Amino acid sequence: MGQEFQKVERVGRAADDDSKRTVIIGAGPAGLTAAWELTRNGRGAVVLEQDPTHVGGIARTVTYKGFRFDIGGHRFFSKNADIEKLWAEILGDRMIERDRLSRIYYRGRFFKYPLETLNVLENLGVAESITCMFSYAAARLKPKREIKSFEDWVVDAFGRRLYEIFFRSYTEKVWGIPCSEISADWAAQRIKDLSVGALVKRALTFRKKAGGPVIKTLIDRFRYPAHGPGEMWETLTKKIEERGAVVRMGESVTSIKRAAAGVVSVVTTGANGPRGYAGGTFISTMPIRELVGALDPAAPSAVVAAANRLKYRDFITVALIIDQPDMFPDNWIYIHEPGVKVGRIQNFKNWSPAMVPDQRYTVLGLEYFCFDSDSMWATPDAELVAMGARELAQLGLGDAAKVVDGTVVRQRAAYPVYDGHYRDAVEVVRGFMERELPNLQLAGRNGMHKYNNQDHAMMTGLMAAWNIMGGSYDLWRVNGDALYLEAGAAGDEEGGRMVPRPLTSEPSSKAA
Ligand SMILES: Cc1cc2nc3c(=O)[nH]c(=O)nc-3n(C[C@H](O)[C@H](O)[C@H](O)COP(=O)(O)OP(=O)(O)OC[C@H]3O[C@@H](n4cnc5c(N)ncnc54)[C@H](O)[C@@H]3O)c2cc1C
Repeated sequence: MGQEFQKVERVGRAADDDSKRTVIIGAGPAGLTAAWELTRNGRGAVVLEQDPTHVGGIARTVTYKGFRFDIGGHRFFSKNADIEKLWAEILGDRMIERDRLSRIYYRGRFFKYPLETLNVLENLGVAESITCMFSYAAARLKPKREIKSFEDWVVDAFGRRLYEIFFRSYTEKVWGIPCSEISADWAAQRIKDLSVGALVKRALTFRKKAGGPVIKTLIDRFRYPAHGPGEMWETLTKKIEERGAVVRMGESVTSIKRAAAGVVSVVTTGANGPRGYAGGTFISTMPIRELVGALDPAAPSAVVAAANRLKYRDFITVALIIDQPDMFPDNWIYIHEPGVKVGRIQNFKNWSPAMVPDQRYTVLGLEYFCFDSDSMWATPDAELVAMGARELAQLGLGDAAKVVDGTVVRQRAAYPVYDGHYRDAVEVVRGFMERELPNLQLAGRNGMHKYNNQDHAMMTGLMAAWNIMGGSYDLWRVNGDALYLEAGAAGDEEGGRMVPRPLTSEPSSKAA
């Protein structure tokens, strides 16, 4: 018996013995929802969170001098009625409903998003519009024989000029891969509803008929907690604690002790030194790569190697406080300008006025997509804030002199990367876990290496809890819309949203 076993914490209600307690790694939407469902049914739950202050994971809200911002704006919408109901139950009238406005910014002009023909033509001007038409005609007259890459697909469908304006810069910023190296299947899925023909048709019908086809990416309204998504997760944490759950902040799970029958306990490191937590059942929402690395005894080398093949895209938010009450009406703006590094700008006051403590000010979130190995990751905060202010001014979206303060939040593993290896790697890990560690369930976004929204993470958390209470659900069958696909049902087996894959990968399946 290792040393940490002697230090196993006795937490939770006195009545809970180890075998009845569920230890949950991560206080993000998935972990907290699992704890909610368990405690609602009188079960014991211990939630271990590495962040010293914030619950909510990637969906947390950070407060800086009274100004609130998200790690990317977090819309609340779900096709899953149970999840919508749960949000209402947790926050009641603190959930506000917002109109969505998000536009593309390119060369000093705002383009409606989704694109609208007349708006595009008007913004591009006569000369550029003619260039685009010629470029489109050239692509139609001489179609590419072999469509391999995202670039091939879009150039073939829209012409090179429109590709350069509307597709290239933002896609490359987000994923860090040249469009010529991204597989064409992503474009085919992602923008299949969009074509020059469809745009012209829409322009001619002027108005979308009620009940008519809606382009997938268009959602006109969404719900949002008055104080940002963090309010949802902070409120839920209070509720589960009232029911007896224990939430330990600032404790990072660094070792997972396993024996013949499965996981026995986990060990955390934090300000108070190592602590052990025993349990009968376990749920992990930490990134799969780290989970496998923490197993003790270590997993077989093939499983470790598979886990180490999983990759993540990291993310920096530069929050700027501006001494100006109104800047632009959008919730967020996609920045297609190639001369700046910022990929998207959130205006959190337009998500909810309560995100600012004083209505004379605005809080913006400038989003930078990167890898933690990039030099940007290690750039001092003050320099990043200065860069944000400079780029805002360069874009003509704000005045650097009015930026009165700013802060930086770095988010590792914001996006699980779907590359040519990930699917096989996840399969290897999953097979091992199911065989050797049957009392441990993987749930949530990085917990399952799925590029998904809060509703999906919550649904997997709910189902993990139901399994602990005797259910028999396959969490991997929750699709991108957070709906459970019964065995044999046709649909998105990956349960993921569509993301680009490099050219080397095999064709993707039917992710949403
Ligand atoms: C830029 C961006 C925008 C987004 N926008 C939306 C949106 O508009 N709407 C929407 O619904 N979703 C959105 N999402 C997705 C949403 O953030 C995720 O779906 C959700 O946060 C996943 O919840 P989770 O609990 O699975 O994981 P996470 O949120 O990642 O939570 C996991 C938790 O585990 C903790 N943890 C990790 N390792 C350890 C460890 N070793 N020990 C202890 N704790 C650990 C982490 O600190 C974290 O708190 C967005 C994501 C990004 C990156």
